[in-house]
Amino acid sequence: MIQKYDFHCPHCDSKLDKNNEIILLTKRSNGDMGEIMMSTSVGNYSYKHSPANAFENGELVTFQCTNCKADLDAENYPDYARLIMKVEKDIQFDVLFSRRAGVQKTYLVTEDGIETYSGT
Ligand SMILES: [Zn+2]
Repeated sequence: MIQKYDFHCPHCDSKLDKNNEIILLTKRSNGDMGEIMMSTSVGNYSYKHSPANAFENGELVTFQCTNCKADLDAENYPDYARLIMKVEKDIQFDVLFSRRAGVQKTYLVTEDGIETYSGT
């Protein structure tokens, strides 16, 4: 498993992780805005959210970059959001994670193929 990496916005390239947490804006289907802090460990699905509301199970959440405010929807996977994972200067992967609350699934797209991670 990769040990050292940063997460970046696919639109403005801002670094979105800090102290081992990825910080993103959230928009719920009812229009509520919030901020989410997720673990940078792929496969760890614990998160903190402000305000401290609970998402409804199966709710489709829109994630946005905290810098450019662009939606992070993955182009070909409407139920997923996409971030860029930078491992080294010239090595980067796409990370797709589920936008559906309660669906714990992450795809790591590398040059060797697609790795799948699921929560328990
Ligand atoms: Zn951005």
